[in-house]
Amino acid sequence: MADRIYNPNPELAKKAHCKSMQQYKTMHEKSIEYPEAFWGEIAKEFYWETATSNDKFFSYNFDLNQGDIYIKWMEGATTNLSFNLLDKNVKCGNGEKIAFYWEGNDPDDYSKLTYKKLLQETCMFANVLKSKGVQKGDRVAIYMPMILELPIAMLACTRIGAVHSVVFGGYSSDSLAERIMDCKAKVLITADGVFRGEKLLLLKNICDDALTKVKAHGHEVECCVVVGHLRRLANPHGKITGETKNGVNGTSNGGSSEPNVSWDDDRDCWWHEEMEEAEPSCYPVWVAAEDPLFILYTSGSTGKPKGVLHTTAGYLIYAATTFKYVFDYKPGDVYWCTADIGWITGHTYVVYGPLANGATSVIFEGTPFYPHNDRYWSVIDKYKVNQFYTAPTAIRSLMKFGDELVKKHDLSTLKVLGSVGEPINSEAWLWFYNHVGHGKCSIADTFWQTETGGHVITPLPGATPMKPGSATFPFFGVLPELLDEDGRVIEGEGEGYLVFRRPWPGMMRSLYGNHDRFQTTYFDRFHGFYCTGDGARRDADGYLWVTGRIDDMLNVSGHLMSTAEVESVLTEHSDVAEAAVVSKPHPVKGQCLYCFVTPNEGRIFSKQLSDELKRKVREKIGPFAQPDVIQHAPGLPKTRSGKIMRRILRKIAIGDKNVGDVSTLADEAVVDVLFQLRP
Ligand code: ATP
Ligand code: MG
Repeated sequence: MADRIYNPNPELAKKAHCKSMQQYKTMHEKSIEYPEAFWGEIAKEFYWETATSNDKFFSYNFDLNQGDIYIKWMEGATTNLSFNLLDKNVKCGNGEKIAFYWEGNDPDDYSKLTYKKLLQETCMFANVLKSKGVQKGDRVAIYMPMILELPIAMLACTRIGAVHSVVFGGYSSDSLAERIMDCKAKVLITADGVFRGEKLLLLKNICDDALTKVKAHGHEVECCVVVGHLRRLANPHGKITGETKNGVNGTSNGGSSEPNVSWDDDRDCWWHEEMEEAEPSCYPVWVAAEDPLFILYTSGSTGKPKGVLHTTAGYLIYAATTFKYVFDYKPGDVYWCTADIGWITGHTYVVYGPLANGATSVIFEGTPFYPHNDRYWSVIDKYKVNQFYTAPTAIRSLMKFGDELVKKHDLSTLKVLGSVGEPINSEAWLWFYNHVGHGKCSIADTFWQTETGGHVITPLPGATPMKPGSATFPFFGVLPELLDEDGRVIEGEGEGYLVFRRPWPGMMRSLYGNHDRFQTTYFDRFHGFYCTGDGARRDADGYLWVTGRIDDMLNVSGHLMSTAEVESVLTEHSDVAEAAVVSKPHPVKGQCLYCFVTPNEGRIFSKQLSDELKRKVREKIGPFAQPDVIQHAPGLPKTRSGKIMRRILRKIAIGDKNVGDVSTLADEAVVDVLFQLRP
């Protein structure tokens, strides 16, 4: 169905960092056979205060039978992240280059930050943190909107060796409190509030709630630094003209519509007041290669979130290398990743990867639908974006509005399109390719996880012939395998558990404060392998197709199927915007298919549509796959990062109101609606 091959645009391939499959294969082989030489060469592009010795460059144990799991890269080396990202770029003449364009929720709010200014702001805020008693190894929680102070706060932590834990600014006070307690943060950084579309979120008030809960549990956050973001929006929805305003460089207007922000004089302070006094330089703290860099919680799609721990040197070289090759970034390009910095995609591909390459990127505060449903296309047009990285959920929700909105804007600067977060169905892939990329851009369907730190299976834009829906081949240093139930390696074509045989530099090192959970979650199922928890299929050409969570696999009358396969067929129908499929126990077949379907804008859900869809699945996959139930779903339960939470849908399918942990759910109301609409 989707096995047609789309070759990279020859114009793009000619100038790409990786120009052909031959070159990719040679580089991949080298990265596997001689990891020290391969990554050692790349490490030379960065600054090391102390060098590593070659015999200690790389060591690990993936086999629980041999003892505890560990992963170490570049032992003995010392460095500083912010120094490599900022000072180095300024020193080599890029000080005046734009690091970030900031595009606010309101199209009239925008700003920009050069590398030089970013370095200065980072140093100043690092000094503020020091004045609050933050030292190397201390944890700093960050709960902020997509404003420039967010990367500044993260970089300031790295400047002094503090460990940041960014919590997505859409989480509830309970989720925030849980994460603050788990990492025992000393300081919390936030903003008074933010507008997302028309909606006002009073972040500081949510923080106060969270800090009260944290205190009740016996942990105390010593200080809360608050960016007066709403204060500087003189009139949040008013029109003010001017070159630059409301970003870091913008004027701070006392504010006509200052929000009601709760305050604790002993604990809270304003960011701008602290910065007034701060020194503009700060000598970097040199940290060891394996010192912690950050903690980040997974999306919670499958259960209780896990506090993934990443360390310094390996993460740096891996973020830098994947960014360069996967987006084929060149000096002068403008890159835009729509992910919130509160997710791993935002950490690696809004902050660390781009800055490590001296790149210019866009940070966007708003939503794809505000003020109109063409906001993404207008931002690409405005900044002449060359690489655009987003998620299937966004693509599907924008497809609903048809391609007229896309056509209104000039997207001719685009070269590479990226997708991440979920398997991308071929329908969405083709729409992205044809309508957004005009059939001339490469699509990087990047498979990776919070745990992997960076892309692990992905096409390279100038090299890899693409198949819609396939993440294709492993990145440098990555050695994937497919295993069957009994842990036997599946050679050639087949489907099984997706695992990795050995670590790459950017891989997680532990779950914070819980190495046991780390070992049992990822290394106990198959000894000697890192288990992703996802299933995948390898086709006759060796392409890898990630089919979704192992837990989401279906077994109908003895036929093993993945939900992604069925969903892909359902969304091919022109009336269907989104679909999610789960299994439901069945007395005869073992399991049967229960499908949730969201119709396109302006289309209605009907018995006729339901019958057509059943027929389609039977024709495309086989009679055994015919769904038993097709339910109307005006909306689907999603994590705040936009992923469908199938474990909740499984509960709805069987009518069990006991849906479990919903703390990471974006909108709880959809669950009730779906219970009501059960046929
Ligand atoms: P939790 O681990 O708490 O359940 P999560 O797995 O959703 O949450 P993330 O680390 O953000 O948290 O997501 C990684 C998962 O996203 C992968 O394991 C995979 O299931 C899915 N994924 C990401 N990118 C792709 C892709 N390109 N193709 C298919 N699946 C993808
Ligand atoms: Mg996961």
